[in-house]
Amino acid sequence: MLINYTEVMVGELFERIIEEHARQFPGTCLCEKCRESMKAMALNNLPVNYISSRTGSIMKRVGFEENTSKGQLTVALINAIQTVADSPNH
Ligand SMILES: [Zn+2]
Repeated sequence: MLINYTEVMVGELFERIIEEHARQFPGTCLCEKCRESMKAMALNNLPVNYISSRTGSIMKRVGFEENTSKGQLTVALINAIQTVADSPNH
C-alpha cells in the first residue's frame, strides 16, 4: 500500500496551525469543507513523497525530512489557510 507521507504530515501539522490561525483571526471558518480545501491547496503546492506502508517508520521520517522540511509544510499550510479563509468556498 502506498502512502503520501506529505499528506500524513500535513494532516498532523494542520490541526496545530489552524488552531493558532483561528485564535488570531476569530472569523476563520472551520467547517469541514473549508478545512478540506485548505489541506488540498497546501498539498497541491507541496511535493508528493510516496512511501510503502511496509517501510520502517523511522526510515520514512528521515526520508521525509530530507525531501520536505517542516518549514516548507508550515508555509504552504499558512498560505492555504489564509487564501481559503479570505474567500471561503462553502
Ligand atoms: Zn467553511
